[in-house]
Amino acid sequence: MKAIAVIPKTQNSVRLVEMEKPAISEIKNGRGVLVEILRVGACGTDREINNGEYGVAPQGFEFLVLGHENLGRVVEVGDNVTEFTPGDYVVATVRRPRGTSIYDKIGEQDFTTDDKYFERGISRLHGYMAEFYVEDADFLVLMPASIAEIGVLLEPLSIIEKGLKQASNIQERLKIWHPKTAAVLGTGNVGLLTVMALRMRGYTVHSFGKQARDGYLNAGMCASIGATYDSTEDLSIVESVKKYGQYDLIFECTGYSPIIFDAMQALNENGILILASVTGGDRTADAVPSDKINQMFVLGNRVMVGTVNAGREHFEMGVKDLALCEALNPGWLGTMLTHKINGLENYAEVFEILNDSAKHSAIKTYFEVKAI
Ligand code: BGC
Repeated sequence: MKAIAVIPKTQNSVRLVEMEKPAISEIKNGRGVLVEILRVGACGTDREINNGEYGVAPQGFEFLVLGHENLGRVVEVGDNVTEFTPGDYVVATVRRPRGTSIYDKIGEQDFTTDDKYFERGISRLHGYMAEFYVEDADFLVLMPASIAEIGVLLEPLSIIEKGLKQASNIQERLKIWHPKTAAVLGTGNVGLLTVMALRMRGYTVHSFGKQARDGYLNAGMCASIGATYDSTEDLSIVESVKKYGQYDLIFECTGYSPIIFDAMQALNENGILILASVTGGDRTADAVPSDKINQMFVLGNRVMVGTVNAGREHFEMGVKDLALCEALNPGWLGTMLTHKINGLENYAEVFEILNDSAKHSAIKTYFEVKAI
């Protein structure tokens, strides 16, 4: 079968490779599921891996098959798989409990404390930019056929669901927490999915991006789901508090780390700031008003939390939000699927778009490997 791979830590090494089609017998205990891949999303992580910034090949391989945002169809199941039958649409989770930490052992691998982690398409395990994969049924989530069309958005959404679940778990410290307003920093595909997830929970949502509002598709999408959009060129996060008030929850997904210090100053008392950008560079921030921020956090019982990856429950929460959004705002999620590339062999086109998504007005770029 065809697959798209990189040589990790080597700039722009993306290529097509030929591999053996996997077999369900590779998974023990009759729990194997063979899945034909229908769609694979491409994101900043794939771009950064192809830039040579990170990524690790599986043991015994010099290349890593890319791809972690996936949607597939079950072809064959092992004898002990009761939850799926051929023809079902499924999405596979990303991280596997292969580490040594207690969190791996209890199936909470998204909280691993190991430095070496195992993520399909990212670190030590091949990904989904291929024609087939085999996986243990434990790591697959059913996608209803009625929303399979937007199913490739589930993996990025799972990251947000985990962040929001962390927030509600942490806020149990308050006994009563009825958050009303939220700010979302960044309106790329992760930002838009965050706006959606918060609107589905009834928040008043204020989103912020760099680009000017006029003619910006993503700003229009924020408006059409009931959120405001402001360009930070016109209104900084700190200044926005005068217009919108302080935020009970702020979700950071810009990839621009200095903005977190602005966000810290815009948080309401008892509020929570969730950080979800993997910033691999070495940027620093200057002129941080540290006394002010520290005092705000101490006197106002504010919280900041980092979050990475997602477990099965967060994927399941995501399926519900996708279904609710389709019911309340039909077509909105489909608008995010701006760039469909047919066939894995056209990978160069995908990376060209990823390298300058603003120029291409791309929200979600994805491969269609096989028709739904
Ligand atoms: C993926 C996560 C992963 C993270 C860090 C993200 O793009 O969606 O599953 O944990 O990268 O590797």
